[in-house]
Amino acid sequence: MAEQTPDPDVGQTHADSLEALAARVAACTRCPLAATRTQTVFGEGNPDAPLVIVGEGPGEQEDQTGRPFVGRAGMLLDECLLANGITRRHVYICNVVKCRACIIEGRRARNRPPTPDEMAACYPWLTEQLGILRPLVILSVGAPSAKTLIDPAFQIMRQRGQWRDGGAHCRHIMAVLHPAFILRHGGEEFERLRQTLIDDIGSARRKVIEAKKQPQPALF
Ligand code: SF4
Repeated sequence: MAEQTPDPDVGQTHADSLEALAARVAACTRCPLAATRTQTVFGEGNPDAPLVIVGEGPGEQEDQTGRPFVGRAGMLLDECLLANGITRRHVYICNVVKCRACIIEGRRARNRPPTPDEMAACYPWLTEQLGILRPLVILSVGAPSAKTLIDPAFQIMRQRGQWRDGGAHCRHIMAVLHPAFILRHGGEEFERLRQTLIDDIGSARRKVIEAKKQPQPALF
C-alpha cells in the first residue's frame, strides 16, 4: 500500500479526510434518494491518485455492494483501464450522485437517471471530495457527469476526448463514453466504442505524466 500524503492544511492524510467525509455522506438526507437507498456509494481507490474517474451515480449492484462501477459496466471500465496498464489501485473512482436513483415498480426497483435537483443536492459532496483528493486529471464518465463537471450544454458524442481546463477541481478534465452506453451496442460498433474508451483512457494516462512534469502553482 502506498504511503498516504498528509493534508498540509489539517495534518490528516487524504484517506482520513475521505473517511470522515464518507461518514457524513452516509448520514445524508438532503434529497429523496435517501429514502430508497440501501447504502450510500461514496467512492473508492487510491486517495492520493493523480487521476480521478467520476461517473453519474450508483445502480442496483453498486447500491447493494456500496462500491462504484461494479457489474458489467464496471468490468468493462476495468478492462479499458487495464488495456492502459491501469488498475483500481492507481486511480480513485466515484460518482456525482452518491445514492441510487430508482423507480419502485411493485416489489422491484428499476434504475433511473437522477433528476437535476438530485444531482444539484449531491454536488456539494463531490466538490468536497475532490477538494480532498486534489487530482491532476479527472475523467468525467458519461453525459450527466460531463454536464455537471464541464458544461451543462455538453454533447458527449461530439465533445468527448477533448481536454479542458479543470477549473477548481483539477488541472485537466476530459469526458469519456460511459461503459454502460458502450454495452448497449453489439458487433463492430461495440468494438469501435470500446476502443474509443481505451484510447481516451490512454490520453488521460499521458496527461497525468505531462501534468506531473509541470511546475506546481505556488501560493507565495
Ligand atoms: Fe444526500 Fe446525495 Fe444521497 Fe441525495 S443522493 S441523499 S444529496 S448523499
